[in-house]
Amino acid sequence: MLNNDVINQNMHERLSPIKNKLSNNNLLVHEIYASVQGESSYMGYPCVFVRTTACHLRCTYCDTASAFFKGTEKSLEEVVKQVLAYGIDLVELTGGEPLLQEASFTLLRLLADNNLTVLLETSGGVSIKNVDKRIKVILDVKTPGSGQVHKNVWHNLNILWPGCEVKFVLTCLDDYEFAKEICVKYDLYNKTKVLFSAAYGQIEHSILAEKMVIDCLPARLQIQLHKVLWGNEPGK
Ligand code: SF4
Repeated sequence: MLNNDVINQNMHERLSPIKNKLSNNNLLVHEIYASVQGESSYMGYPCVFVRTTACHLRCTYCDTASAFFKGTEKSLEEVVKQVLAYGIDLVELTGGEPLLQEASFTLLRLLADNNLTVLLETSGGVSIKNVDKRIKVILDVKTPGSGQVHKNVWHNLNILWPGCEVKFVLTCLDDYEFAKEICVKYDLYNKTKVLFSAAYGQIEHSILAEKMVIDCLPARLQIQLHKVLWGNEPGK
């Protein structure tokens, strides 16, 4: 849960860690680490995570607020080298919101050039139009319960490409109904894989599972594997 000081930051304050401070095409990186992939169709595979600093959103259930502020400026070459050193061929760029930094678009290309399978976890609050089409985008759609539904960039749902997945983090059954409506409105079941996930500690997975079965939804229930294994421990 976010504290009020963080929630009440204005946009200038939210973006201040990354505005006009980075030299050349450098990236402000919160952390780089290896773990198992906890979400998406790649759940369970070993994966290297590159977590960037700063986010313009403030979701009610956010569990990565530490990434809003702290980071180390790194060259893209340094980041790629660090990722390759793990010897794992799956990498995810995540945040915060990675697409707030222009260098992220270049980093995604460089990682794909190195024959890695590259996932991008993004909030859905920034356009994915200029993301390299080799990248597998895990696109969040913010629900009313997130408090950030007004920040969705809806045209993202019209430009998804093969390999992309759309994820709804649900806080309650109203969110579930909202997600169903969006899936139909944007024809998501026919265009992409749809993931439904329960916001940690807010709605029982079993309740969601029962609803999805009753409604015969062609969506996948996702349980965040890293939280089952390690709870909310950072860097896992
Ligand atoms: S988009 Fe992600 S990082 Fe940003 S506030 Fe929401 S949950 Fe946190």
